[in-house]
Amino acid sequence: MIKGEQLYSGKAKTVYATNDPKRYIVKFRDDVTAGDGAKKANMKGKGYYNAQISARLFKLLADNGISTHYIKMVSEDEMLVHACDMIKIEVIPRNIAAGSIVRKYEFKQGHPFAQPVLVMDYKNDAAHDPMLNDDIAIALGLVTEKELRKIRKISLRVNDILKQFLGDRGLDLPDFKLEFGKVDKKIVVADEISPDTMRLWRKGTMESLDKDVFRFDKGDLLTTYKEAAKIIVPEIFK
Ligand code: 5GP
Repeated sequence: MIKGEQLYSGKAKTVYATNDPKRYIVKFRDDVTAGDGAKKANMKGKGYYNAQISARLFKLLADNGISTHYIKMVSEDEMLVHACDMIKIEVIPRNIAAGSIVRKYEFKQGHPFAQPVLVMDYKNDAAHDPMLNDDIAIALGLVTEKELRKIRKISLRVNDILKQFLGDRGLDLPDFKLEFGKVDKKIVVADEISPDTMRLWRKGTMESLDKDVFRFDKGDLLTTYKEAAKIIVPEIFK
């Protein structure tokens, strides 16, 4: 696989073409941002931990019959993925109230939801990712009704799989963000699943092992991500 030209560079990842038009390489960079890019830093090794955690969780999903864009790692912080048309929706399954849902509604931080709450945001930095409902998503032409049904179903299933896997390892999963893409009309889980895009708490403690440590200056982010990696991908420390 030959790495080609840079196609896209986001806040923490860069996407490259390859010699196969159906495959891209995603590099997880050491950049970290918060608050729509208002707060920025670079931490050597952060991209590595996020890439390894994402790869492990994509493999977990594949083992459970969920299609993802992940193919394999091609270096310590780069993954080969199926090229897909990204759907501009962020789907956030929430199990425990934290973050924006606490700021917007009268839920207390740490309140466990009786059943998962699915929130959808429009992936649009300039508009600060406004919340969507089904009708707005369809009216914007982001998805069809059928695709939305499928996205919801996959999101809830992914939530069950991740909650179980992380729960078995002593972690609560208050919420996480999923992005989807289309490969030949088939919907697959894309982007990343890492402490940048999840809230992970040590079970029962609300102690963050995720980007909230950076967002709210709660400690050293790299140490935190290493700690999360030790729990989720212990094999990389052998
Ligand atoms: P909140 O809506 O509370 O800001 O975020 C809910 C969850 O989704 C958190 O785990 C957060 O990390 C993730 N999330 C939502 N939007 C984004 C985003 O634009 N970028 C990243 N990295 N994570 C997001």
